[in-house]
Amino acid sequence: NADVAMYQAKSSGRNNFQYFTADMNVRASERLELETSMRHALTNGEFELYYQPQVSLKDNRVIGAEALIRWNHPEQGLISPAKFIPVAEESRMIVPIGNWVLQEACRHAAAWQAAGLPPITIAVNLSPLQLHQSNLLDIVSDAMSSAGLAPQYLEIEVTESVVMQEVEHVMAMLHGIKRLGVKLSIDDFGTGYSSLSYLKRFAFDKLKVDQSFVRDLASDANDAAIVLAIIGLGKTLGMSVLAEGVETPLQLEFLRRAQTDSIQGYLFSRPLNASEFRKLLGNPEGMLLSSSVAPISG
Ligand code: C2E
Ligand code: MG
Ligand code: MG
Ligand code: MG
Repeated sequence: NADVAMYQAKSSGRNNFQYFTADMNVRASERLELETSMRHALTNGEFELYYQPQVSLKDNRVIGAEALIRWNHPEQGLISPAKFIPVAEESRMIVPIGNWVLQEACRHAAAWQAAGLPPITIAVNLSPLQLHQSNLLDIVSDAMSSAGLAPQYLEIEVTESVVMQEVEHVMAMLHGIKRLGVKLSIDDFGTGYSSLSYLKRFAFDKLKVDQSFVRDLASDANDAAIVLAIIGLGKTLGMSVLAEGVETPLQLEFLRRAQTDSIQGYLFSRPLNASEFRKLLGNPEGMLLSSSVAPISG
């Protein structure tokens, strides 16, 4: 199979030798196909950013949004980032795609502010490979300045695993991002294997509790204990704590009692496309988490 041969050649070129079974051949050719069509997707405008509101539990208002990429593939329809982001990372396509995400998110945020809508912070996910671009700081500041977005309205999310490789380089990059005035958050916290001492050294502004712990909060005493411990840890280290994947009023109630600073999840809203999100920003009632929460569909 020519696809597999090509894939093997490319992989070994990266000193990344792999064995293929019949089952993996299918996956490898599918990956190659994704990789090829990803190259066109950027220039064809097939990527789109959705925005999921983040709500403060202090005043029950939307204070930010996470930008989440979507791929509208001309033949395959919507492809989930869970499927293509790993392929984009392996093929290094995440670098140009990630840079596009930064620019697009800054553009949207600046346009909403210019239209007089309430200013919010936009969080952008950054992949480990992006942190290894030597010109990352220029890329981030160019994205902000060409959009006309002030740095305090941008937040960069990295996962724990980022912090474990090439610590000194990553540290320098993350501190550089903070010096630009951009906020930093640690994503999916609790699922990786970061050392707690690094957590202190990197000076994150926000810690995002992974949704896997939030899911069974109300029924699993271990998960409830883990969430409480993570919230305590985050607060002790001076971070703001956000809980991801909040879907039920019971979870919300627990998180409120545990002094969680903010939440993100389907209970308040699914990720919305730019025009839906803009409508939300323009609607004072929609921006408020009421005690009788009705989820917004999107
Ligand atoms: P993440 O950064 O942890 O993003 C949160 C994911 O949880 C999103 O999935 C979001 O739609 C989903 N989510 C939010 N609330 C709930 C909820 O209440 N219940 C459940 N079950 N899920 C919820 P999504 O959009 O499919 O993204 C998946 C992952 O793909 C992200 O996880 C992130 O790691 C990656 N990703 C998405 N966009 C980008 C991007 O622009 N760049 C990079 N590098 N990665 C991205
Ligand atoms: Mg994230
Ligand atoms: Mg997350
Ligand atoms: Mg995740």
